[in-house]
Amino acid sequence: MAHYPITHHLTDDLLMSYAAGTLPEAFALVAASHVSLCDECRARLGAYEALGGAVLDTEAEAMTDDALERGLAACLSRLDRPAPVQRPAMRQGPLPGPLADWIGGGLETVRWRPLGMGVRQAILPTSRRATARLLHIPAGVAVPDHGHRGTELTLVLQGAFRDETARFGPGDVEVAGQELDHQPVAEPGVDCICLAATDAPLRFNALLPRLLQPLFRI
Ligand code: ZN
Ligand code: ZN
Repeated sequence: MAHYPITHHLTDDLLMSYAAGTLPEAFALVAASHVSLCDECRARLGAYEALGGAVLDTEAEAMTDDALERGLAACLSRLDRPAPVQRPAMRQGPLPGPLADWIGGGLETVRWRPLGMGVRQAILPTSRRATARLLHIPAGVAVPDHGHRGTELTLVLQGAFRDETARFGPGDVEVAGQELDHQPVAEPGVDCICLAATDAPLRFNALLPRLLQPLFRI
């Protein structure tokens, strides 16, 4: 995968949980995929992992927030440059390495199911605490507007989409929570392919998607 300018990143909470190994598999898959493409998040993840090790070596309860902050700053400063990663995604089209490994191949191995309006999805096997799906949204097409009962992570693999908050291009990840209602629209030109993970059903505003929801596990 080419080196895209990534502007939307994982939150610190997500990176910390990922470092601690407490994310549901579906979220961990999005995190691993984004980290494999993003030098910045990889560096922060490295710092959290180092900090986690440092905390385990001391009396965790004895550490004040100040001490933790100092420890994190120290870990961050020790990482001068993130190690260059190999980008196995190169040979897998738009799929980042961890995702290609997870599905066991490239996009041609994906078995898509129609969601309506030309949108297709493929649910990936993960633990049931959260659901991961690939979404293929034709260029210019809008996903039904919806809110969220939990957290939704959307990583762009190809193309781009816009919603009420911003534009998301390849490598960008949108972190949507209960406060956000949005209608993602794929940009014209190239079909948009995303990896999305949710830990609760979406809240669709229109009746039809609401009726079809259980069928699509979305
Ligand atoms: Zn990032
Ligand atoms: Zn959403």
